Amino acid sequence: MTAACSIQVRGTVQGVGFRPFVFRLAHANKLTGWVLNAEQGVEIHVEGTERSLRGFVRDLKTQTPPAAHITNIEVSSAHPAGLTDFAIRGSEVSGKPTVHISPDLPVCQECVAELLDPRDHRYGYPYINCTNCGPRYTIVNSLPYDRFNTTMKHWPMDPDCSTQFEDPMNRRFHAQPVACPTCGPHYYFRSGGERVNGDLASIRRAADLLRAGGIVAVKGIGGYHLACDARNAIVVGALRQRKFRREKPFALMAKTAEIARSLVVLSQEAAELLDCAAHPIVVAPSKVELHGVAPDNRDLGVMLPYTPLHHLLFEAGAPDVLLMTSANRSNEPIAYRDEDAIEQLTGIADAFLIGERAIARPVDDSVVRVGAFGPTILRRGRGYAPGAVATLPVKRPVLAVGGDLKNTITLVVAGQAFMSQHLGDLEQYETFEAFRQCILDLTSMYEVSWQELLVAHDLHPEYFSTAHAVDLPAAGWQPLQHHRTHIASVLAERQAWEQRVVGIAFDGTGYGDDGAIWGGEIFTGSIVEGFERVGHLRYASLPGGDAAARNTLQAAAGFLDQLDSSSEHLFESLSRFRDATRLVELGVRTFSSSSMGRLFDAVAAMLGFTRPITFEGQAAMWLEHQAHSVSSTEAYPFPFVASQLDFRPLLQAVLDDRAMGRDIGDIARAFHRSVAQGVVNSALELSERAGTDTLVLSGGVFQNDLLLHHVKSLLEGKHIRVWMNQRVPPNDGGISLGQAALAAFAKCGQHHA
Ligand code: ZN
Ligand code: FE
Repeated sequence: MTAACSIQVRGTVQGVGFRPFVFRLAHANKLTGWVLNAEQGVEIHVEGTERSLRGFVRDLKTQTPPAAHITNIEVSSAHPAGLTDFAIRGSEVSGKPTVHISPDLPVCQECVAELLDPRDHRYGYPYINCTNCGPRYTIVNSLPYDRFNTTMKHWPMDPDCSTQFEDPMNRRFHAQPVACPTCGPHYYFRSGGERVNGDLASIRRAADLLRAGGIVAVKGIGGYHLACDARNAIVVGALRQRKFRREKPFALMAKTAEIARSLVVLSQEAAELLDCAAHPIVVAPSKVELHGVAPDNRDLGVMLPYTPLHHLLFEAGAPDVLLMTSANRSNEPIAYRDEDAIEQLTGIADAFLIGERAIARPVDDSVVRVGAFGPTILRRGRGYAPGAVATLPVKRPVLAVGGDLKNTITLVVAGQAFMSQHLGDLEQYETFEAFRQCILDLTSMYEVSWQELLVAHDLHPEYFSTAHAVDLPAAGWQPLQHHRTHIASVLAERQAWEQRVVGIAFDGTGYGDDGAIWGGEIFTGSIVEGFERVGHLRYASLPGGDAAARNTLQAAAGFLDQLDSSSEHLFESLSRFRDATRLVELGVRTFSSSSMGRLFDAVAAMLGFTRPITFEGQAAMWLEHQAHSVSSTEAYPFPFVASQLDFRPLLQAVLDDRAMGRDIGDIARAFHRSVAQGVVNSALELSERAGTDTLVLSGGVFQNDLLLHHVKSLLEGKHIRVWMNQRVPPNDGGISLGQAALAAFAKCGQHHA
């Protein structure tokens, strides 16, 4: 008895080997029918016995190819048409592509096995790939995702590769970047006047140099890395000096998961992230002391090899723990064009390992961590971008341009919110260019109609992103307040449009409704009704404009000015502190701020961190690091009264403890607990008033895991659930999603402050 059913599959199911997978599955289950790429996903028709149909549907759900991500499967019964075979039919794509551009994938195990097998045709070939693995977003120039629209178009396939490309039973069926040593691109090694050709020879030469303590610029999937032996303190020091990167932590690449495990403490969840399809940098507590890799930091960031080239480097004898840092100037996108890399890195790198295949756009490694409330993405790049992060109930296209720091953009097409890769800080020219390009890229790939486009941007009138947004030839614009977009980003991920919440956004800086610099903000409301600011950190008058973010003493001067007692005895660099205090008293170049990030800076200064900040969040990281050395302690008073978190009693207590000579680590720990207590107290009070049991936490300050652990322990037994970002960063890298969500509802006529 023949039965039939039609199946619709939605999600990332095109360009990821899904149709051949269906083809093989149908054969294995002795079914006839067809599969095709439709506008919104994959359509399948299968005929056979009831039993085989059931088996087919089960396998479809459980044996999904690694690159595919199914969001929805709909199965309905159909009339058998008496088909005699199973076919992959031509695409039915007619209108606009709503097909997802797949993120890049790590090389799969089958390809690695071939790569390392001397009998295989692709032995030692750094561009080996198949439908289950390899580059996507970093090679595609335009849609549809076909070879001639990728950076592989310059290398026509030879007969061997074409045969595999055309064979539905082959792992390389329609693998667009398929190539082999005969027909594809190659790597070469360059150092001064020396040039080594040949994939294996050049890789061996690079591995030798790495072992000998050299620094090699290595071209990867989304750009160039600077690599060196992470256990060699001399070369690590040299890299810091040459790169003018004094203290910011460097990431590591471990040859195997076992070696990664010897470097950091990996929970089950963290170990899974390390090996997941994105192969991100996983930040976890370190077990080893690697001099100069991550100064003043409890954690190390580790990733596993994700390109065939990385595997070959390790096989060729490169040190089994490589320092791998994005080749860029600070806060700029990763260098990805050969000429730029050579120009920027000559003088830093001793040699270059260059691949001939062009990279279409810069995509940095992603950074993730498992925190108190589960996994968090700290930087969303390779392996995640430009995947969909949410589905929004909006028909018209929306472009959200994010903020000026840690910029990402979000494009909503047919309700799917696609977030770009992390681009960086827009005040850097190169980053701004990448930002412009990324907007053009995504809007043209998804064929967005500018006549319909709604553009969402930050309220800040002086943001580069704002200036660019209002210049775009769009149909409408929606300015949105920074901290509300942080809260909305969490709710958008969960499609919680009507959920009322208490939303706490703590970060370094964001433009407020009143023109002040906000950063310690408490709201109630929902995406649909809007968010009312119901509390905030007491304002301080901070000196020095933007420079205050690089100078902890200026933050300290601003906050401590509101105390009655003198704090001068605290500071060794007294004249600098006095200068800052004078600015506050005279009101010269000062601005009103409720920034929680700056409060962390002020306390770091009070505990001895008075040197210049060389990367964002450094002082807060230092403070967290100090606090980790001690076990739990009592909180200082940090009352929430009259809608304000009052920092005065808190700082007075820190001053008193310093006067009594209390241990720095103890004070730092007590400070963390106090901030957590402030969060919990205000949340408890407001949740009752607002009639909600849901607390949303977002903003860069909540990347502080110690703070989160304290919040969690203080909430134990209380009837409050905490929601945080899962798919987008809690820092400013996530706000473009929040902007898109608020804009989507704002245009329906709902009110937003
Ligand atoms: Zn593969
Ligand atoms: Fe922010």
